[in-house]
Parts: sequence; C-alpha cells; structure tokens
Amino acid sequence: MTRRLGSGSLVIATHNAGKLKEISALLDPYGMTCISAGSLGLPEPAETGKTFAENALIKARAAAEASGLAALADDSGLSVDALGGRPGVYTADWAERQWFEGEPGRDWYMAMGKVEGLLQQAGSDTDRSAAFHCVLAVAWPDGDSAVYEGRCPGTLTWPPRGEMGFGYDPVFVPAGAEKTFAEIEPAPKHAVSHRADAFAKLVADQFGV
Ligand code: IMP
Repeated sequence: MTRRLGSGSLVIATHNAGKLKEISALLDPYGMTCISAGSLGLPEPAETGKTFAENALIKARAAAEASGLAALADDSGLSVDALGGRPGVYTADWAERQWFEGEPGRDWYMAMGKVEGLLQQAGSDTDRSAAFHCVLAVAWPDGDSAVYEGRCPGTLTWPPRGEMGFGYDPVFVPAGAEKTFAEIEPAPKHAVSHRADAFAKLVADQFGV
C-alpha cells in the first residue's frame, strides 16, 4: 500500500507562483498546507531525467531532502506518437530561443511549427495522435516516494487556433472534441486535462476520495 501524506505541510517543488496557487487550491480541502520550494530558498535541481516520472521524482526528492518535509513535484509535456514520443521531456526546450545577449525566451509558435514541420516531412497521411502527460511525484525525506501519471489523448491540428491557454494548446484537440485547448474555456479544459487526471489519481490514492 502506498504511504499516505496525512494532513500537514507539503513542499511544492516549484518556483512558479501560478503552479503553487493551483496546487494549493486542489490540496487545501484535504488539510494540506502547501509551501513553495522557492519561498524556502531551495535550489532547483537540473532536470536530467529521460521520462516525465524521472524528472518529477528528481524535483520532489531534492525538495524533500533539503526541507526535511514531504514534497510534491510535477513534470508535464506533449508526446507525439509519430515522433516517437518527442518532444516529451524536452517540450519546453523546443520553444527556447536565444534573444539578445543570450537572454532565453520561449517562442511557442516556433515550437508548434517544429512539431508540424516534422509531421509534414513524415508524409501527408501521418498519424497525428498526441497526448499531454502530467506526472506528479510525492517524496518523503527518508527516500520513500509515490508517482501518479495523468494523460490527455488527442490529435494535432494546423494552423494553430485560439487565444486561451498556453504552450502547445492552440494545436491540440483533445479526444472527442473539435476545438483546440486554446479555444476551450479554462474550466472545461481542466475537467479533461492531463493535470486533472494525475491529481484525481493522487487524491484517490492519498486521501481515499
Ligand atoms: P513543465 O511541466 O513546467 O516542465 O512544463 C513543460 C511544458 O509542457 C510547458 O512549458 C508547456 O509547453 C507544455 N505543457 C504542459 N502542460 C500543457 C498544457 O496544458 N497546455 C499546453 N502546453 C502544456
């Protein structure tokens, strides 16, 4: 049986204020007080894993060891079937563009275009199936851990459509829908998203709900 968090403090291994807020709201009903790794001054480890689960575990374990508290981390991205799962753990890296004097920026249109270019090179009848993945890892200071994998299947469309969402949302049409994630309001997106799937699994296992 998986180890349970119980109630109490949980370090969220992110320096992203938006992510902390979203995760805190999801775990608050279960008596968890979320503290960000950023507010504790914890260093961000290098994400050297080859899978979403490896990267989520690297981040959760580093935060648990450094804080002495249980920690939660996530890792997410897009995997395209015809590209052998790429961009996968490199989803954000594919949008990396060096601006003036090496200041990094993210160009999502470029990243979506790179995926589309590879699909078109593969031929007009190429399978356009893809899935967003989200892996949540919980780690305890003694080395114990638990992993929850969420997935949202869909297909890729071109050109990009919609103004909502972020990242690759304008080219991703979730299974059973016609609109892209960027054309869907946040609430219905969150109802079917890879993050919702992973959180549902975590909450069911950790809090028995
Ligand atoms: P990370 O989990 O913060 O490392 O995010 C990896 C990358 O995956 C993000 O920068 C986004 O480009 C992409 N991604 C993850 N979830 C979504 C989503 O719901 N919509 C669009 N892109 C996403």
